[in-house]
Amino acid sequence: MYDECLFLSNSYLKEFNATVERSGPRFVVLDRTAFYPESGGQPSDTGILLHKQETVRVFKVLRRGSDIFHYIEGDLPVGAFVRGVVDWDVRFLNMRRHSAEHLLSGLFKRVLAGPKVYSDLQRLEYKPSDLTVEDVNKVAKWFNEAIIADVPVRIYYANRDELNVTGDERREEFLAKIPRDVQRLRMVEFPGYDLNFCFGTHVRSTGEIGRLVSLNLKEGKRRRKIVNFDL
Ligand SMILES: [Zn+2]
Repeated sequence: MYDECLFLSNSYLKEFNATVERSGPRFVVLDRTAFYPESGGQPSDTGILLHKQETVRVFKVLRRGSDIFHYIEGDLPVGAFVRGVVDWDVRFLNMRRHSAEHLLSGLFKRVLAGPKVYSDLQRLEYKPSDLTVEDVNKVAKWFNEAIIADVPVRIYYANRDELNVTGDERREEFLAKIPRDVQRLRMVEFPGYDLNFCFGTHVRSTGEIGRLVSLNLKEGKRRRKIVNFDL
């Protein structure tokens, strides 16, 4: 799983060479890829595959079992040698927003926001809690301080059995979704802010995320607290 997923070892890789291993109507599986498949709240990459004189658009990438399916506008034969090019502007924005999601998740723990039930690239959702506008303003201030501090993001691997997620429903749920045969978990640490296992793509240091343009608190359904953010 780790060797063929080039986005895990280098999330800044924009172009790569690969061979088509499986193909069908409007999809291919490659022997290696830098295209990020939709998961963990981070959307799928898009881009192109170049094959001889042909340019084929990749419009969606999904993980199915242990394979990564590239959905394409056209067909390519098994054995075809291709060059993949990721739509970098979209991916980099996703990386910045997803990294912001990590940072905000860590900072909201400091103000005791309570259990997080959902988050994506622009929203965090908490169970009913005493979270106030003052707390949100505090988090916004800390967030922008972390951007100025330009803290390097640390990525390393840990043994699944060493990880304790007891009591954290969302992490328990995420962990359960990772196949049992995956023993090495990818840990993503924003030192001093957040530590979580994650197979997504992240920026190298907090400075690249950029400052918040907005961070707003809203009352959600069933009295949940929703925080919307934008960079
Ligand atoms: Zn992540």
